Amino acid sequence: MNKIIGFIGGGNMASAIIGGILQSGLAPKEGIIASDKLEEARRLLQERFGVRITEDNRKTAETADILFLAVKPHLFPDVITEIKDSIRSDTLLVSIAAGQSIAAIEGRFGREIRLVRAMPNTPALVGAAMSALSPNQNVCEEELAEVVSIFESFGACEVISETMMDAVVGVSGSSPAYVYMFIEAMADAAVADGMPRAQAYKFAAQAVLGSAKMVLETNTHPGALKDAVCSPGGTTIAAVAVLEEQGMRSAVIKAQRACVEKSREMG
Ligand code: NAD
Repeated sequence: MNKIIGFIGGGNMASAIIGGILQSGLAPKEGIIASDKLEEARRLLQERFGVRITEDNRKTAETADILFLAVKPHLFPDVITEIKDSIRSDTLLVSIAAGQSIAAIEGRFGREIRLVRAMPNTPALVGAAMSALSPNQNVCEEELAEVVSIFESFGACEVISETMMDAVVGVSGSSPAYVYMFIEAMADAAVADGMPRAQAYKFAAQAVLGSAKMVLETNTHPGALKDAVCSPGGTTIAAVAVLEEQGMRSAVIKAQRACVEKSREMG
């Protein structure tokens, strides 16, 4: 990609995205510029990736063809006020902030902008994100394809209607926390049965990773995959019966809908 990619805010998410871009060769390190107010954050980016760094958000905004807004959501008003006169009319903005709608960001710029609202999740840090993207009406197919290729450099990505963003928060933004609880619980049970803790986490986490790959790669319904593990009168169906009795599925559905409700309230 022959474009300069800029980042306002060089924290965890920006680092994950920069790592993906460099590893996939989408842009060279000279093609990336990042600004951060914290000296420590700038030093880490420079050491880890060798990209161009600056303290000056305006310089990043002026230089970038594709500009990521990667600061915490509560900083958006100040940061946008600072950079809004520095971007060009053809700068493509990508916001990764939770709870900042397209309309709210457009309103802060107060003029026509090209904007993609994105919602990645923390597995981005290990190149296994699930991200959702919603473009505004000014983004053309070619620009959207470029943003998709950036997000695919550190995981999977889907273009969705913005009305689905709260559902995305529930199913992929926050869901790593529910999965970690599931892994922790399985490991606790293995520890109770005498397995050393470190080994228990490895067994539980690898079982979750492998099961997720089975769903994604075999294209088989998760219910059918579950049935295939359950031999008649066997060990697995004994576990499944207890999970049903304890309301595992309804607990997950209720929890996730509470998450989506909270996201709607905050947005
Ligand atoms: P972070 O705290 O790791 O990074 C934010 C960076 O912004 C910090 O390095 C901070 O020094 C810098 N910063 C603060 N004020 C600044 C300013 N005025 N100008 C320039 N830089 C400034 O946070 P993060 O986890 O990388 O999150 C960044 C954004 O990504 C947030 O909006 C968050 O909602 C979104 N997001 C995060 C996740 C996640 O799971 N971490 C998931 C989806 C979306």
